[in-house]
Amino acid sequence: MIPLAPGATIGIIGGGQLGRMSAIAAARLGYLTHIFTPEASSPAAQVSGTTTVAEYTDHDALRQFADNVDVITFEFENLPAESLDLLSSLKPVRPGAKILRISQDRLLEKQFLNDIGIPTAPWGPVHDESELVDEAQRHDLPCVIKTTRLGYDGKGQKLCRTEADCCDAFETLEPKPLILEAFVDFHSEISVIVARGENGDMSSFDPVENRHKNHILDVTLAPAPLPLETLAEATGMARRIAEKLELVGLLAVEMFVTATGTLSVNEIAPRPHNSGHWTLDACPASQFEMHIRAITGLPLPPATRHSDAVMKNLVGPEDIAAWSAILATPGLIPHHYGKTEARPGRKMGHFTRLFPRGSLPGAFGIDAALTLSDD
Ligand code: AMP
Repeated sequence: MIPLAPGATIGIIGGGQLGRMSAIAAARLGYLTHIFTPEASSPAAQVSGTTTVAEYTDHDALRQFADNVDVITFEFENLPAESLDLLSSLKPVRPGAKILRISQDRLLEKQFLNDIGIPTAPWGPVHDESELVDEAQRHDLPCVIKTTRLGYDGKGQKLCRTEADCCDAFETLEPKPLILEAFVDFHSEISVIVARGENGDMSSFDPVENRHKNHILDVTLAPAPLPLETLAEATGMARRIAEKLELVGLLAVEMFVTATGTLSVNEIAPRPHNSGHWTLDACPASQFEMHIRAITGLPLPPATRHSDAVMKNLVGPEDIAAWSAILATPGLIPHHYGKTEARPGRKMGHFTRLFPRGSLPGAFGIDAALTLSDD
Protein backbone atom coordinates (compact mmCIF):
# COMPACT_ATOMS: atom_id res chain seq x y z
CA MET A 1 0.00 0.00 0.00
CA ILE A 2 1.36 3.45 -0.87
CA PRO A 3 1.04 5.51 2.32
CA LEU A 4 -1.60 8.24 2.18
CA ALA A 5 0.07 11.64 1.91
CA PRO A 6 -0.58 14.40 4.44
CA GLY A 7 -3.68 16.31 3.36
CA ALA A 8 -5.62 13.13 2.55
CA THR A 9 -9.01 12.66 4.23
CA ILE A 10 -9.92 9.80 6.53
CA GLY A 11 -13.63 9.02 6.78
CA ILE A 12 -14.66 7.84 10.24
CA ILE A 13 -17.98 6.08 10.81
CA GLY A 14 -19.28 7.06 14.26
CA GLY A 15 -19.07 10.32 16.18
CA GLY A 16 -18.20 9.28 19.73
CA GLN A 17 -15.09 9.72 21.85
CA LEU A 18 -13.19 6.99 19.98
CA GLY A 19 -13.73 8.95 16.75
CA ARG A 20 -12.73 12.16 18.54
CA MET A 21 -9.42 10.77 19.76
CA SER A 22 -8.78 9.09 16.37
CA ALA A 23 -9.40 12.43 14.62
CA ILE A 24 -6.93 14.20 16.91
CA ALA A 25 -4.31 11.52 16.17
CA ALA A 26 -5.03 11.85 12.42
CA ALA A 27 -4.56 15.62 12.59
CA ARG A 28 -1.14 15.17 14.23
CA LEU A 29 -0.12 13.01 11.27
CA GLY A 30 -1.29 15.67 8.80
CA TYR A 31 -4.61 14.12 7.77
CA LEU A 32 -8.08 15.63 7.58
CA THR A 33 -11.07 13.76 8.98
CA HIS A 34 -14.69 13.51 7.91
CA ILE A 35 -17.12 12.06 10.46
CA PHE A 36 -20.32 10.19 9.53
CA THR A 37 -22.78 10.07 12.43
CA PRO A 38 -26.52 10.30 13.05
CA GLU A 39 -25.84 12.55 16.09
CA ALA A 40 -26.43 16.28 15.49
CA SER A 41 -23.70 17.29 17.91
CA SER A 42 -21.01 14.71 18.52
CA PRO A 43 -17.64 14.54 20.30
CA ALA A 44 -15.81 13.64 17.08
CA ALA A 45 -17.44 16.40 14.99
CA GLN A 46 -16.08 19.01 17.43
CA VAL A 47 -12.51 18.20 16.36
CA SER A 48 -13.03 17.32 12.67
CA GLY A 49 -13.18 19.56 9.61
CA THR A 50 -16.22 17.90 8.06
CA THR A 51 -19.21 16.00 9.38
CA THR A 52 -22.09 14.28 7.64
CA VAL A 53 -25.10 13.97 9.93
CA ALA A 54 -27.25 11.15 8.55
CA GLU A 55 -28.58 7.72 9.46
CA TYR A 56 -26.30 4.72 8.90
CA THR A 57 -28.95 3.42 6.46
CA ASP A 58 -28.96 6.58 4.29
CA HIS A 59 -27.32 5.28 1.11
CA ASP A 60 -27.24 8.65 -0.66
CA ALA A 61 -25.43 10.23 2.28
CA LEU A 62 -23.04 7.26 2.51
CA ARG A 63 -22.27 7.56 -1.22
CA GLN A 64 -21.50 11.27 -0.92
CA PHE A 65 -19.37 10.63 2.16
CA ALA A 66 -17.36 7.97 0.31
CA ASP A 67 -16.85 10.38 -2.61
CA ASN A 68 -15.20 12.87 -0.29
CA VAL A 69 -12.74 10.65 1.59
CA ASP A 70 -9.65 8.58 0.70
CA VAL A 71 -10.09 5.71 3.18
CA ILE A 72 -12.93 4.69 5.51
CA THR A 73 -12.66 3.37 9.06
CA PHE A 74 -14.84 2.91 12.14
CA GLU A 75 -15.18 3.90 15.73
CA PHE A 76 -18.53 2.11 15.87
CA GLU A 77 -18.68 -1.30 14.24
CA ASN A 78 -22.40 -2.02 14.11
CA LEU A 79 -23.04 -0.59 10.68
CA PRO A 80 -25.83 -2.43 8.79
CA ALA A 81 -24.43 -5.03 6.35
CA GLU A 82 -25.85 -3.32 3.21
CA SER A 83 -24.29 0.02 4.20
CA LEU A 84 -20.98 -1.71 4.73
CA ASP A 85 -21.20 -3.38 1.32
CA LEU A 86 -22.01 -0.06 -0.32
CA LEU A 87 -19.03 1.71 1.28
CA SER A 88 -16.71 -1.20 0.44
CA SER A 89 -17.71 -0.93 -3.23
CA LEU A 90 -16.72 2.74 -3.30
CA LYS A 91 -13.56 3.23 -1.21
CA PRO A 92 -11.04 1.16 0.76
CA VAL A 93 -12.65 0.19 4.07
CA ARG A 94 -10.15 -0.70 6.79
CA PRO A 95 -10.59 -2.94 8.66
CA GLY A 96 -12.56 -4.80 5.99
CA ALA A 97 -16.17 -5.95 5.87
CA LYS A 98 -15.35 -9.57 6.80
CA ILE A 99 -13.86 -8.55 10.16
CA LEU A 100 -16.75 -6.25 10.95
CA ARG A 101 -19.26 -9.00 10.22
CA ILE A 102 -17.47 -11.40 12.58
CA SER A 103 -17.21 -8.87 15.39
CA GLN A 104 -20.86 -7.79 15.01
CA ASP A 105 -22.16 -11.26 15.79
CA ARG A 106 -21.16 -13.20 18.91
CA LEU A 107 -21.97 -16.56 17.27
CA LEU A 108 -19.73 -15.92 14.25
CA GLU A 109 -17.09 -14.48 16.57
CA LYS A 110 -16.97 -17.48 18.93
CA GLN A 111 -17.03 -19.91 15.99
CA PHE A 112 -14.18 -18.09 14.27
CA LEU A 113 -12.08 -17.98 17.46
CA ASN A 114 -12.57 -21.70 18.17
CA ASP A 115 -11.84 -22.57 14.51
CA ILE A 116 -8.41 -20.94 14.76
CA GLY A 117 -7.69 -22.66 18.09
CA ILE A 118 -8.39 -19.75 20.45
CA PRO A 119 -10.10 -20.81 23.69
CA THR A 120 -13.40 -19.24 24.75
CA ALA A 121 -15.98 -20.12 27.40
CA PRO A 122 -17.95 -23.19 26.23
CA TRP A 123 -20.98 -21.84 24.34
CA GLY A 124 -23.95 -22.76 22.21
CA PRO A 125 -26.45 -20.96 19.97
CA VAL A 126 -30.01 -20.32 21.15
CA HIS A 127 -32.39 -19.67 18.24
CA ASP A 128 -35.52 -21.06 19.90
CA GLU A 129 -36.85 -22.63 23.09
CA SER A 130 -35.82 -26.17 22.23
CA GLU A 131 -32.22 -25.03 21.69
CA LEU A 132 -32.39 -23.18 25.01
CA VAL A 133 -33.32 -26.42 26.79
CA ASP A 134 -30.56 -28.37 24.96
CA GLU A 135 -27.84 -25.82 25.65
CA ALA A 136 -28.88 -25.26 29.28
CA GLN A 137 -28.59 -29.02 29.83
CA ARG A 138 -25.25 -29.29 28.03
CA HIS A 139 -23.60 -26.56 30.19
CA ASP A 140 -23.43 -26.37 33.96
CA LEU A 141 -25.22 -23.51 35.67
CA PRO A 142 -24.55 -20.70 36.24
CA CYS A 143 -24.35 -19.51 32.67
CA VAL A 144 -24.58 -16.19 30.87
CA ILE A 145 -27.17 -15.70 28.12
CA LYS A 146 -26.47 -12.84 25.73
CA THR A 147 -27.88 -11.28 22.60
CA THR A 148 -25.62 -12.02 19.65
CA ARG A 149 -25.78 -8.49 18.26
CA LEU A 150 -25.64 -4.92 19.59
CA GLY A 151 -24.77 -5.77 23.21
CA TYR A 152 -22.30 -3.52 25.02
CA ASP A 153 -21.39 -2.49 28.58
CA GLY A 154 -23.30 -5.47 29.99
CA LYS A 155 -26.49 -4.56 28.10
CA GLY A 156 -28.25 -7.46 26.39
CA GLN A 157 -27.08 -10.19 28.76
CA LYS A 158 -28.22 -12.03 31.89
CA LEU A 159 -26.42 -14.17 34.43
CA CYS A 160 -28.57 -17.27 34.95
CA ARG A 161 -28.25 -19.36 38.11
CA THR A 162 -31.39 -21.52 37.65
CA GLU A 163 -33.39 -22.96 34.77
CA ALA A 164 -36.10 -20.41 35.56
CA ASP A 165 -33.50 -17.62 35.05
CA CYS A 166 -32.67 -19.13 31.64
CA CYS A 167 -36.35 -19.07 30.62
CA ASP A 168 -36.67 -15.51 31.86
CA ALA A 169 -33.57 -14.47 29.87
CA PHE A 170 -35.01 -16.11 26.75
CA GLU A 171 -38.30 -14.22 27.19
CA THR A 172 -36.73 -10.82 27.73
CA LEU A 173 -33.52 -10.62 25.66
CA GLU A 174 -33.96 -9.20 22.15
CA PRO A 175 -33.15 -9.48 19.32
CA LYS A 176 -32.89 -13.26 18.85
CA PRO A 177 -30.90 -15.40 18.29
CA LEU A 178 -29.11 -15.56 21.64
CA ILE A 179 -25.92 -17.25 22.78
CA LEU A 180 -25.52 -19.26 25.99
CA GLU A 181 -22.05 -19.20 27.53
CA ALA A 182 -20.72 -21.12 30.50
CA PHE A 183 -19.95 -18.77 33.39
CA VAL A 184 -16.19 -18.19 33.71
CA ASP A 185 -15.09 -17.88 37.35
CA PHE A 186 -12.34 -15.43 36.47
CA HIS A 187 -9.62 -13.90 38.63
CA SER A 188 -9.28 -10.86 36.39
CA GLU A 189 -10.23 -9.43 33.02
CA ILE A 190 -7.51 -8.27 30.66
CA SER A 191 -7.26 -6.93 27.14
CA VAL A 192 -4.61 -6.74 24.45
CA ILE A 193 -4.59 -4.20 21.64
CA VAL A 194 -2.75 -5.01 18.44
CA ALA A 195 -2.25 -2.98 15.27
CA ARG A 196 -1.56 -4.68 11.93
CA GLY A 197 -0.60 -3.12 8.62
CA GLU A 198 -1.43 -4.38 5.14
CA ASN A 199 2.13 -5.78 4.85
CA GLY A 200 1.49 -7.99 7.91
CA ASP A 201 3.64 -5.97 10.34
CA MET A 202 2.18 -5.96 13.83
CA SER A 203 2.64 -3.91 16.99
CA SER A 204 0.95 -4.95 20.21
CA PHE A 205 0.56 -2.99 23.44
CA ASP A 206 1.20 -4.71 26.75
CA PRO A 207 -1.83 -6.55 28.18
CA VAL A 208 -3.75 -4.49 30.73
CA GLU A 209 -6.16 -5.36 33.54
CA ASN A 210 -9.68 -3.96 33.35
CA ARG A 211 -11.91 -3.47 36.38
CA HIS A 212 -15.61 -2.81 35.86
CA LYS A 213 -18.30 -1.04 37.88
CA ASN A 214 -21.97 -1.63 36.95
CA HIS A 215 -20.74 -3.55 33.86
CA ILE A 216 -18.89 -0.47 32.56
CA LEU A 217 -15.11 -0.20 32.47
CA ASP A 218 -14.01 1.73 35.56
CA VAL A 219 -10.23 1.42 35.83
CA THR A 220 -7.45 0.05 33.60
CA LEU A 221 -4.07 -0.95 35.04
CA ALA A 222 -1.16 -0.92 32.60
CA PRO A 223 0.53 -3.34 32.58
CA ALA A 224 -1.73 -6.10 33.99
CA PRO A 225 -0.15 -7.35 37.23
CA LEU A 226 0.20 -10.98 36.04
CA PRO A 227 3.07 -13.43 35.50
CA LEU A 228 5.13 -12.78 32.38
CA GLU A 229 4.17 -16.14 30.81
CA THR A 230 0.47 -15.27 31.09
CA LEU A 231 1.09 -11.87 29.51
CA ALA A 232 3.09 -13.46 26.69
CA GLU A 233 0.36 -16.03 26.05
CA ALA A 234 -2.30 -13.30 25.93
CA THR A 235 -0.23 -11.28 23.48
CA GLY A 236 0.35 -14.36 21.31
CA MET A 237 -3.41 -15.00 21.15
CA ALA A 238 -4.22 -11.42 20.15
CA ARG A 239 -1.57 -11.46 17.41
CA ARG A 240 -2.83 -14.79 16.10
CA ILE A 241 -6.39 -13.45 15.89
CA ALA A 242 -5.22 -10.30 14.05
CA GLU A 243 -3.22 -12.39 11.59
CA LYS A 244 -6.01 -14.89 10.91
CA LEU A 245 -8.49 -12.04 10.39
CA GLU A 246 -6.01 -10.44 7.95
CA LEU A 247 -6.61 -7.28 9.93
CA VAL A 248 -5.61 -3.91 8.55
CA GLY A 249 -6.20 -1.58 11.47
CA LEU A 250 -6.53 -2.04 15.20
CA LEU A 251 -7.98 -4.91 17.20
CA ALA A 252 -8.82 -5.11 20.92
CA VAL A 253 -9.11 -8.58 22.41
CA GLU A 254 -10.83 -8.97 25.79
CA MET A 255 -9.94 -12.05 27.83
CA PHE A 256 -10.72 -13.71 31.14
CA VAL A 257 -7.86 -15.01 33.33
CA THR A 258 -8.63 -17.67 35.93
CA ALA A 259 -6.81 -18.04 39.26
CA THR A 260 -4.61 -20.73 37.69
CA GLY A 261 -3.68 -18.49 34.75
CA THR A 262 -5.93 -20.07 32.11
CA LEU A 263 -6.97 -17.62 29.40
CA SER A 264 -10.17 -17.48 27.38
CA VAL A 265 -11.24 -14.79 24.93
CA ASN A 266 -14.54 -13.03 25.68
CA GLU A 267 -14.83 -10.66 22.74
CA ILE A 268 -12.96 -8.79 20.04
CA ALA A 269 -13.44 -5.24 18.74
CA PRO A 270 -11.77 -4.11 15.49
CA ARG A 271 -11.24 -0.49 16.57
CA PRO A 272 -9.68 1.62 19.31
CA HIS A 273 -10.90 0.47 22.72
CA ASN A 274 -11.64 2.09 26.07
CA SER A 275 -9.01 -0.13 27.70
CA GLY A 276 -6.35 1.47 25.45
CA HIS A 277 -6.89 5.10 26.49
CA TRP A 278 -3.85 4.94 28.81
CA THR A 279 -1.65 4.68 25.68
CA LEU A 280 -2.38 8.35 24.91
CA ASP A 281 -0.20 9.37 27.83
CA ALA A 282 2.08 6.39 28.50
CA CYS A 283 3.30 5.49 25.00
CA PRO A 284 5.14 7.38 22.23
CA ALA A 285 2.43 6.26 19.78
CA SER A 286 -1.08 5.79 21.22
CA GLN A 287 -3.66 3.22 20.09
CA PHE A 288 -5.31 6.00 18.07
CA GLU A 289 -2.08 6.85 16.26
CA MET A 290 -1.46 3.13 15.60
CA HIS A 291 -4.97 2.84 14.17
CA ILE A 292 -4.46 5.79 11.83
CA ARG A 293 -0.99 4.58 10.83
CA ALA A 294 -2.29 1.06 10.06
CA ILE A 295 -5.15 2.23 7.83
CA THR A 296 -3.10 4.85 5.97
CA GLY A 297 -0.14 2.56 5.21
CA LEU A 298 2.34 4.33 7.49
CA PRO A 299 4.98 2.28 9.34
CA LEU A 300 3.97 0.92 12.75
CA PRO A 301 6.43 1.79 15.50
CA PRO A 302 6.89 -0.63 18.40
CA ALA A 303 3.99 -0.27 20.87
CA THR A 304 6.30 0.36 23.80
CA ARG A 305 5.28 2.17 26.96
CA HIS A 306 7.58 4.64 28.67
CA SER A 307 5.49 4.62 31.85
CA ASP A 308 3.10 2.44 33.79
CA ALA A 309 -0.39 3.90 34.01
CA VAL A 310 -3.75 3.83 35.75
CA MET A 311 -6.70 5.05 33.67
CA LYS A 312 -10.00 5.99 35.35
CA ASN A 313 -13.19 6.40 33.34
CA LEU A 314 -15.52 9.27 34.17
CA VAL A 315 -19.01 7.84 33.78
CA GLY A 316 -22.30 9.72 34.11
CA PRO A 317 -23.17 12.89 36.03
CA GLU A 318 -21.54 11.77 39.32
CA ASP A 319 -18.06 11.24 37.89
CA ILE A 320 -17.98 14.29 35.64
CA ALA A 321 -19.13 16.46 38.57
CA ALA A 322 -15.57 15.99 39.86
CA TRP A 323 -14.04 17.63 36.74
CA SER A 324 -12.78 20.76 38.58
CA ALA A 325 -11.25 18.59 41.32
CA ILE A 326 -9.57 16.46 38.66
CA LEU A 327 -8.08 19.56 37.03
CA ALA A 328 -6.88 20.73 40.44
CA THR A 329 -5.17 17.44 41.32
CA PRO A 330 -1.47 17.41 40.44
CA GLY A 331 -0.38 14.52 38.24
CA LEU A 332 -3.75 13.62 36.73
CA ILE A 333 -3.93 13.89 32.94
CA PRO A 334 -7.50 14.89 32.02
CA HIS A 335 -9.42 13.99 28.86
CA HIS A 336 -12.91 15.48 28.35
CA TYR A 337 -15.10 14.15 25.55
CA GLY A 338 -17.04 17.40 25.03
CA LYS A 339 -20.45 15.86 25.76
CA THR A 340 -22.84 18.41 27.21
CA GLU A 341 -25.47 16.02 28.51
CA ALA A 342 -24.31 13.69 31.32
CA ARG A 343 -26.73 10.77 31.32
CA PRO A 344 -26.25 7.90 33.82
CA GLY A 345 -23.84 5.34 32.38
CA ARG A 346 -22.57 7.70 29.66
CA LYS A 347 -18.79 7.91 29.25
CA MET A 348 -17.94 11.60 29.71
CA GLY A 349 -14.16 11.53 29.91
CA HIS A 350 -11.24 9.81 31.62
CA PHE A 351 -8.03 10.62 33.41
CA THR A 352 -4.68 8.92 33.57
CA ARG A 353 -1.95 8.89 36.20
CA LEU A 354 1.52 7.79 35.15
CA PHE A 355 4.16 5.97 37.20
CA PRO A 356 7.77 5.30 36.27
CA ARG A 357 7.91 2.11 34.20
CA GLY A 358 7.96 -0.94 36.47
CA SER A 359 6.48 0.85 39.50
CA LEU A 360 2.72 0.40 39.11
CA PRO A 361 1.54 0.40 42.75
CA GLY A 362 -0.44 -2.39 44.45
CA ALA A 363 -4.12 -2.13 45.36
CA PHE A 364 -3.78 0.51 48.11
CA GLY A 365 -1.46 2.64 46.01
CA ILE A 366 -3.92 2.56 43.13
CA ASP A 367 -6.71 3.86 45.38
CA ALA A 368 -4.38 6.64 46.51
CA ALA A 369 -3.44 7.40 42.91
CA LEU A 370 -7.10 7.96 42.05
CA THR A 371 -7.85 10.19 45.04
CA LEU A 372 -8.63 13.78 44.10
CA SER A 373 -7.11 16.79 45.88
CA ASP A 374 -10.31 18.00 47.52
CA ASP A 375 -11.74 14.55 48.31
P1 AMP B 1 -19.49 -8.61 27.31
O1 AMP B 1 -20.65 -7.77 26.93
O2 AMP B 1 -19.43 -9.95 26.66
O3 AMP B 1 -18.18 -7.84 27.19
O4 AMP B 1 -19.63 -8.88 28.88
C1 AMP B 1 -19.63 -7.84 29.82
C2 AMP B 1 -19.07 -8.35 31.14
O5 AMP B 1 -19.88 -9.42 31.65
C3 AMP B 1 -17.66 -8.93 31.03
O6 AMP B 1 -16.69 -7.91 31.10
C4 AMP B 1 -17.64 -9.86 32.23
O7 AMP B 1 -17.39 -9.14 33.42
C5 AMP B 1 -19.06 -10.41 32.28
N1 AMP B 1 -19.16 -11.68 31.52
C6 AMP B 1 -19.46 -11.80 30.21
N2 AMP B 1 -19.44 -13.09 29.81
C7 AMP B 1 -19.11 -13.82 30.89
C8 AMP B 1 -18.91 -15.22 31.14
N3 AMP B 1 -19.09 -16.15 30.17
N4 AMP B 1 -18.56 -15.60 32.40
C9 AMP B 1 -18.39 -14.68 33.39
N5 AMP B 1 -18.57 -13.34 33.22
C10 AMP B 1 -18.93 -12.91 32.00
